[in-house]
Amino acid sequence: MADWNPWHGCQKYSEGCMHCYVYRRDASYELDASKVRKNKAFDDPIARKRDGSYKLSSPAMVYTCFTSDFFIDEADQWRADAWRMIKERSDLSFFFITKRILRFYSELPDDWGNGYTNVTIGVTCENQARADERLPFFLSLPIKHKTLICEPMLEDIDLSPYLGGPIEQVVIGGESGPNARLMRYEWAVHIQQQCIAASVPFSFKQTGANFEKDGRIYRIARNEQMKQARKSGLSWTPSPIDQSNADQT
Ligand code: SF4
Repeated sequence: MADWNPWHGCQKYSEGCMHCYVYRRDASYELDASKVRKNKAFDDPIARKRDGSYKLSSPAMVYTCFTSDFFIDEADQWRADAWRMIKERSDLSFFFITKRILRFYSELPDDWGNGYTNVTIGVTCENQARADERLPFFLSLPIKHKTLICEPMLEDIDLSPYLGGPIEQVVIGGESGPNARLMRYEWAVHIQQQCIAASVPFSFKQTGANFEKDGRIYRIARNEQMKQARKSGLSWTPSPIDQSNADQT
């Protein structure tokens, strides 16, 4: 597992961005997160040791662009090079999350075809309007591995029209930070039920800082949010039999 942040900084783009962790973290260092800049780590995937081997050894999952958005327009000038490195390192798996999937074709490599097999793209939908805006387009795209993310989840969401196709996993979670918006237990149950009906693996990743269950609001410390989500037992993976039935439908 490795991190690769080829550029840093972002513009707030939709409702889920209100309390963006990149902004919160940069503010604590008196930095301006709205300035998108190329990082020193830009060439990390292809950096080599003295003996000529890659510094980043494989196999590894490379969590990419987690302090920006891979498709942000300020990075159009760098994206072609980023794609070139991703292609060169076909021995690594790259995973990134975007709210800007509508910009997918910006600087897409000519040889993309049906998608590079080593790239997984996760699209974030924080509410129903963003799901309905982004997912029909996302589903139509030539991408080998697709994930849906509802994080921070801001309301109950019906994902069922978008499941059952090429979506490999759904991940949800609440919002963190001092002003976190509320997440409700029943929203998580609802998504879980939709995933079970569609035989799509479901991960309740974390509760967020303010979580409501049975009419009671819990303030949950950062280091407890993943643990509490795990304890809920809601995360779900289809059995091999469910999966093979789903594959035949
Ligand atoms: S798109 Fe992501 S990184 Fe950019 S402002 Fe929104 S939450 Fe932050």
